[in-house]
Amino acid sequence: MQLIDGNAIAQQILAEVKAKVATLAPVVPHVVFVRVGEDPASVSYVSKKEKTAAEVGMKASLKLFPESVSKEELFACLDALNADASVHGILVQAPLPKHLPETEVFNRVSPDKDVDGFNTINIGRLVQELPNAIAACTPAGVIELLKRSGVKTAGKRAVVIGRSLIVGKPAAVLLLSKGTDATVTIAHSRTENLAEVVREADIIVAAIGKPKFVTADMVKPGAVVIDVGINRVPDATKKAGFRLVGDVDFEAVAPKCSFITPVPGGVGPMTVAMLMKNTLDAALRAGR
Ligand code: NAD
Repeated sequence: MQLIDGNAIAQQILAEVKAKVATLAPVVPHVVFVRVGEDPASVSYVSKKEKTAAEVGMKASLKLFPESVSKEELFACLDALNADASVHGILVQAPLPKHLPETEVFNRVSPDKDVDGFNTINIGRLVQELPNAIAACTPAGVIELLKRSGVKTAGKRAVVIGRSLIVGKPAAVLLLSKGTDATVTIAHSRTENLAEVVREADIIVAAIGKPKFVTADMVKPGAVVIDVGINRVPDATKKAGFRLVGDVDFEAVAPKCSFITPVPGGVGPMTVAMLMKNTLDAALRAGR
């Protein structure tokens, strides 16, 4: 069994992005984070993204709005950022308050600056395999982990568990796209005989949000397991009172696998790295 080191692969990608950013001077890729309210997880995610952008030599700006911001005010800000030629990437941090419909907000961002890849146009471009598609960062990170670990994907049976718009569906599209060429099944909460379906997989991508959901009996010997899940489980031995675990019963599954990602330290660090890569690519395509 080989552990896929997401931290090391993410660092490799960030080093490549940083080297490329340095060649673009005097142009500096510029990403703007838009945060609404003070959700503690959002505060921490956005500050991590800002810090990483600075580390790779990009400019990061933050637009902060109170929870009560109107849709009109938020849209006016997004329209101005869309029109600003010095801005290459825009990311509206989810979750948003209920009065701000997420799909509508994501679609207000110019598809060419939508570095989160949540925009309807980008999902269409991804399905059409167009070169200007911006893929959502977490599923794009899953593919990079597979490629950079030397996992053969062409013709292999991949089972994605989870059909969310931010992970499961785009992961499935990327797995079946040309260049990756897997044979893909998407399993979800209504799938019958789920264990049987997953047992057929050469590659399992687990994006469910339930600790220890994927058990050893669901995994074919030699399978590759990519665990996207991030779940908090109570742990009195930790200062925070909890620890993070994935969707896979790691201890039991790992001995059966050829490759497996740990949680933390697997897919997690890839998400921010791919965000930087998406921003760099957006700046390159903008040509300014
Ligand atoms: P989601 O809740 O939107 O989707 C979960 C999916 O799991 C659904 O499509 C549902 O059909 C499926 N599911 C639920 N119960 C099931 C069951 N009993 N059997 C089969 N399928 C079932 O979640 P999400 O946003 O896709 O996130 C999934 C997990 O990935 C979460 O733990 C989340 O924290 C994590 N995540 C990690 C990153 C990262 O950077 N590593 C990014 C995004 C999400």
